[in-house]
Amino acid sequence: MLIDLHNHTPLCNHATGTPLALASRAYELGCKYYGFADHAFMPFEPEYRMSEVQIEFYEDLVKETAEHFRGKMEILLGYEVDFMDDEKYFSPRVMNSKCDFLIGSVHFLDFWGFDNPAFIGSYEGKDIDELYGQYFEAIARSARCGCFDILGHIDLIKVFNYRPKKEIKILAQPAIKAIKEAGVCVELNSAGWRKPCAELYPSDEILELLADFDAPITFSSDAHSVEQVGANMDKTIAKARQFGYSKACVFKKRSREFISF
Ligand SMILES: [Zn+2]
Ligand SMILES: [Zn+2]
Repeated sequence: MLIDLHNHTPLCNHATGTPLALASRAYELGCKYYGFADHAFMPFEPEYRMSEVQIEFYEDLVKETAEHFRGKMEILLGYEVDFMDDEKYFSPRVMNSKCDFLIGSVHFLDFWGFDNPAFIGSYEGKDIDELYGQYFEAIARSARCGCFDILGHIDLIKVFNYRPKKEIKILAQPAIKAIKEAGVCVELNSAGWRKPCAELYPSDEILELLADFDAPITFSSDAHSVEQVGANMDKTIAKARQFGYSKACVFKKRSREFISF
């Protein structure tokens, strides 16, 4: 494993493992660029993210971990920021942080946390194709907003394996076009393999579209524990190669570099 940019810490209240333990596992697996991108503070569902007063502590913790691995593995400081379609949910402290990168993720549609098992009941009675349409519109807006270096798990709406009747390529295509036009990077997130959908985020069909558009990619395990660090990453890299990719992005101080893999 060369690159893994999206990893959580216990500060989000639903992950385990110290940053040192998480990064040590990545180092064991041969990682060269390891990123923390914990759930950033926002004034909504505070139980699933760091608080505003923890921002400083989080950044110090990541910098200390980076110091520990200096010369051996680069540790990068990022945030996973919720794209809520309303700027009032962006914390200025996070958005203006001197971090390495920001990942924009859609976890909410009309304030419904659709990937949270606690709220799975809300899928009942919804038109699944309309829901996918609404989801990919949000993904397109998150690309166009220009706030993010990377978009997180761009087909997370499949997490519980509710699949659309319409062809996924037709549903996702406008969002992929917006991603290409915005020049934003997309993560290949191996966490999908440990969820009911049991496949990479994004699916082969969407990965093929990304490759057709020559959209930049990076790699993430979205680990919420030491065991999840780098899990299924070999399969993820093989998928990238299968669709013609040979370079992936890393970000330092918000500027992009391409690394061959
Ligand atoms: Zn999480
Ligand atoms: Zn996420």
